[in-house]
Amino acid sequence: MNLLSKIITVKRLDHHFYRWDEATLRAHQAKRVAAVLEYAGRHSPYYRKLRSGKSPLTLDSVPRIDKAEMMAHFDRINTAGLKKNELIEFQLKQDRAGSLGLFPGGFSAGVSSGTSGNKGLTVLSRTERELYSCLLWARNGIPAVVKDRRVLFALRTNNPAFMEVASFGVKICYVDYTHPAEDLVKIINSRNLNILAGPPSLLAMIARLHASIDHPVDVVISYAEVLSEKTRQEIGSAFGAPVVEIYQSSEGFIGSTCRAGKLHLNEDVILVDLEETPDTLGKARNVVVTDLYRTTQPVIRYALNDILEISPERCSCGSCFQVISRIHGRSDDIFHLKGPGGQVRYLFPDYVQRAIIHASDEIVEYQAIQHSIDAIEVRLVLKDGADGPAIEQAVRANLAGWAEKVGGKPGVITFTGALPEPNPVSRKFIRVVRKF
Ligand SMILES: [Zn+2]
Repeated sequence: MNLLSKIITVKRLDHHFYRWDEATLRAHQAKRVAAVLEYAGRHSPYYRKLRSGKSPLTLDSVPRIDKAEMMAHFDRINTAGLKKNELIEFQLKQDRAGSLGLFPGGFSAGVSSGTSGNKGLTVLSRTERELYSCLLWARNGIPAVVKDRRVLFALRTNNPAFMEVASFGVKICYVDYTHPAEDLVKIINSRNLNILAGPPSLLAMIARLHASIDHPVDVVISYAEVLSEKTRQEIGSAFGAPVVEIYQSSEGFIGSTCRAGKLHLNEDVILVDLEETPDTLGKARNVVVTDLYRTTQPVIRYALNDILEISPERCSCGSCFQVISRIHGRSDDIFHLKGPGGQVRYLFPDYVQRAIIHASDEIVEYQAIQHSIDAIEVRLVLKDGADGPAIEQAVRANLAGWAEKVGGKPGVITFTGALPEPNPVSRKFIRVVRKF
């Protein structure tokens, strides 16, 4: 794809986002779903086997799959005859060498973290990578007024060196997000970076050092972890800059921030199906996605581990794409509580989070870990001089209150004094964790 066709694609993506009406969007989705199913039915051994006779596949006729299924059947799901083990081995070798080489055939592989045997694998062809980069260009949420773009892009690269790339007049400095925040501030200053992109836990650490940054930051982009309203406000006011959010997973670029500051589903590239959950207090939904363009590794009725709430209102920006009002976290982290008569009641991560942050303004960092159905550990970092025992009492009472709302019992709540810590495998900072 040359620069001109990229610019045209970006303009078209912008048009879809802001100008399409509901009927145009739904017709486009139906057409793309049919195209993806038709391709998979012909070229993917896994989907070909599901076809009966000559009739085409329909969305209802293919199984809903998850990460474990995708990985178990990867070699038969992909349409390019690629082997999972060869790709993972190739990619890990590339990562260790800090190189960006492609797999024979021009494929790029992304290996997402997971315990051994539970790694995710994403394969993109050259065309799919180009569409992805156009999407990121069109929908990165950076306000149009920010013309000069020098980006700190914090990723988990496992590489101590940082890498500088310039393309389309944008300078991007890739750094490993496990670097101490002080080192990142030095890079921000020496390269005069005005856009900071990273997981919110890291952005919050940089925000606490904002006084050491010697130039203005124009926009902050958050991704990879749940961004709470509290963290958004802290980061935004430290830098005096807008905080926009990108919602992406290894399965695709699912949501991006519009010019009105709301997070929309990218419904022209991903069909999102929202499934009921046992949330009795709000409208939390499980997310099942179908990628409308990927064909090398078809993503069809794929259940993410994420829980979302969708706003019933249409956004003031004019887009008919649905607005995500809340990202709860991972479905694996829903707390399981003892309910009446041996039943299990579910307390969703966002409620646990609210129980803690609403207890006091003096809480700087926190993490809640459920170790068993009747044991919750809470880790708190408080501002200097805060009244620890009173705050712990308030957190305890709030958690008990939320547990009662769902008809469950929180069990024993302990405050261990341990520091909140990132997931040892993914290094993501997950504030509400269920460990059993
Ligand atoms: Zn909007």
